[in-house]
Amino acid sequence: MVVIPYVPRTKVVLRKPRITEKDLRESVVLGLATKEDFEIDIEKNQNSKEFLSTLIHECCHVWLPDLSEANIIKMSDMLRDIIWSKGYRRLMK
Ligand SMILES: [Zn+2]
Repeated sequence: MVVIPYVPRTKVVLRKPRITEKDLRESVVLGLATKEDFEIDIEKNQNSKEFLSTLIHECCHVWLPDLSEANIIKMSDMLRDIIWSKGYRRLMK
């Protein structure tokens, strides 16, 4: 179990981000969240589980802009594992 210490006044910004799939293979990242603009760029050439992981991770950055990278990773990995364990997969259009 991971215990995240209570952080008073943690900012939560629940707004739908604009998500753009891109070829980021020449970049060092698989996803990039611009918190101020609610924009997420995500590497389109990922397998289903990696894509889900990156998508959740970047959404957490936008919605919880003050949370540390370590806690974003813990939270997004748990969400990914729960969603994945229930059988959700990405359908390619
Ligand atoms: Zn991150």
